[in-house]
Amino acid sequence: MIKTITMNNNLTIPALGFGTYQAADGEEAYQSTLAALKLGYRHIDTAAVYKNEESVGRAIKDSGIAREELFITTKLWNDAHSYEGAKQALHDSLKRLGLDYVDLYLIHWPNPVAVRDHWQEANAQAWRYMEEAVAQGLVRTIGVSNFLVHHLEALAKTAQIKPAVNQIRLAPGCYQTEVIDYCRAHDIVLEAWSPLGQGEIFNNSTMQELAQKYHKTIAQVALAWSAYEGFLPLPKSVHEERIKENLDFLDIELSKEDAQTIRNLPGMSAIPDPDTKNF
Ligand code: NAD
Repeated sequence: MIKTITMNNNLTIPALGFGTYQAADGEEAYQSTLAALKLGYRHIDTAAVYKNEESVGRAIKDSGIAREELFITTKLWNDAHSYEGAKQALHDSLKRLGLDYVDLYLIHWPNPVAVRDHWQEANAQAWRYMEEAVAQGLVRTIGVSNFLVHHLEALAKTAQIKPAVNQIRLAPGCYQTEVIDYCRAHDIVLEAWSPLGQGEIFNNSTMQELAQKYHKTIAQVALAWSAYEGFLPLPKSVHEERIKENLDFLDIELSKEDAQTIRNLPGMSAIPDPDTKNF
């Protein structure tokens, strides 16, 4: 049974989500999302830029699961960081998903190339619309993604509603200390994107040893670590067996030492810098 986390707006979010990045629009995104829902996932993470909202929405509808039992997230892409842009983008996402509301709407990146000379103002304007969308019932919770401390502090200057979530890259060997500490201190839920390191943890000998030690798979150990840290992991797979495997990690009780080893795992990808990305 997937637990829930209570956010700073007193709403709850399932403590594990199903990732859909790179699940191709059409059969792949549809079948994998449907499989995830049938296997027990209740939290789906998509984004306008994944170009699969239509297929994800179809799977949600065909699952037959009551809407109020589901938690659906989508994200504002980098071409829409303004009041009007966010308004249009949210309406387009809802239409593609076939939903009346989403549970969580995130600003996907804090500093897109298109607004790099005025990202603070651009985020403030997009956020202003997102706050209105909450009042209108189009979105239940609003949050951000890939925000570092200076982006969160800039947003706080004008925000009426505090972000409830920050979705950032958090994986074995990819631990963003400064922003993690800030979010913990400000009661912002940390969602872990690429909790399996986009596949790079599977050839790691330390992760292989830990999997043997706990009689579990590498993916399950990585997800147990994410939960141990208090993160909300969003593993992605399009294979039913793996989708199922990624649900089954709650019985792992990592030792403090092993958790520390995973946190500091060497050789993993560099942490992305949102201020220098070329999109
Ligand atoms: P991930 O860390 O979830 O890794 C996914 C890959 O791991 C899969 O393609 C598959 O090859 C492999 N895999 C999955 N389960 C496995 C298993 N049990 N055994 C062996 N291999 C397995 O990477 P991700 O998709 O990049 O991240 C997860 C989700 O996070 C995304 O789908 C998306 O929803 C979200 N995300 C958000 C951002 C952002 O900027 N906000 C960026 C990237 C991803």
